[in-house]
Amino acid sequence: MSNIRIHSEDTVMVITGKDRGKFGKVRRVFRSKNSLLVEGVHMVKRHMRKNPYTNQPGQIIDKIMPVHVSNVMLVCPSCGLPTRVGFRFVEKDGQTKKVRFCKKCNEVIARGNR
Ligand SMILES: [Zn+2]
Repeated sequence: MSNIRIHSEDTVMVITGKDRGKFGKVRRVFRSKNSLLVEGVHMVKRHMRKNPYTNQPGQIIDKIMPVHVSNVMLVCPSCGLPTRVGFRFVEKDGQTKKVRFCKKCNEVIARGNR
């Protein structure tokens, strides 16, 4: 089982594909698929056909497709750079906690949604 080092609400930068260099906020993480939904990244146009039964008009909608974790890098909130993530253990309130840290500036990266 691989572990995803990126959580929802993190900011990531895309490193491959047509969206290379784009920054976006992670909206959802699909652990089982090792993929993420990133705001504004990997958008595709879906052409909806007119449906005569429900009277729905034909339209084009933007849909966000998941990107594989290997295609993005976490952006460190402290130094603002795309970085690799390490783990270390810190002691807080008598408990040992596993935290992520930035391999560039060595700062702890807090979980955005906590
Ligand atoms: Zn950093």
